[in-house]
Amino acid sequence: MALSHEEQTRIDLAATFRIIAHEGMHEAVANHFSAALSPDGKQFLLNPKWMHFSRIRASDLLLLHADDPQAAQREDVDATAWAIHGQIHQRLPDVKVVLHLHPVYTTSVACLAHPHIPPVDQNTARYFNRVSFDSLYGGMADTVQEGARLAGLLAGNKRLMMGNHGVLVTAPDIGEAFDDIWTLERACQILVTAWSTGQPLRILADEVAEKTAQDWEKIADFSRQHFEEMKQLMIRQDPSLLD
Ligand SMILES: [Zn+2]
Repeated sequence: MALSHEEQTRIDLAATFRIIAHEGMHEAVANHFSAALSPDGKQFLLNPKWMHFSRIRASDLLLLHADDPQAAQREDVDATAWAIHGQIHQRLPDVKVVLHLHPVYTTSVACLAHPHIPPVDQNTARYFNRVSFDSLYGGMADTVQEGARLAGLLAGNKRLMMGNHGVLVTAPDIGEAFDDIWTLERACQILVTAWSTGQPLRILADEVAEKTAQDWEKIADFSRQHFEEMKQLMIRQDPSLLD
């Protein structure tokens, strides 16, 4: 029997948590992912407060509405998750998926006084002129105002490097969002490793970097297949993901 849109989204989002934990990109029992279900983007799935990514099942995901004033009071809703994801889903209807992480290499680059991602290889070039940088970290983002500010920064760009904090990635599709945040971490790992040699980098010419970024944008199906393959690995490893 065909799965409903909600059932499929629950499985895909649960799989994303499992993959990210498998890759060691999670932070303790923090960090959140959400996926919109309704056409206006306001009804969305979110992971429950302080549950480890590696044991999240499809049925564990919370179904919330961005306009619901009671949601912030729920014990299973993390205040920072509600502030950030609630505001993004309320304000940006085109955003279907929001992933927020503090992965080591991406966060390292976000902690530089002058954070930037010079195009030095295929992975870094994917983000050429395609990432916003925020330098106004002011503590744990647990207010509507801070969520609204972050949503504003995402209005013109689907990726936000959060200075002194981590990263936010949005996408129209879970598979594309996963591959994007995974490749960004890979890009930053290459960059930090290259910087750590102390040798000068050979930075790609702007036109080569731009062409490479455009080439990436033509293969969203590659991103979705990366996700599908990883999802099947996670299901094989622990079928409770589907529960
Ligand atoms: Zn965070």
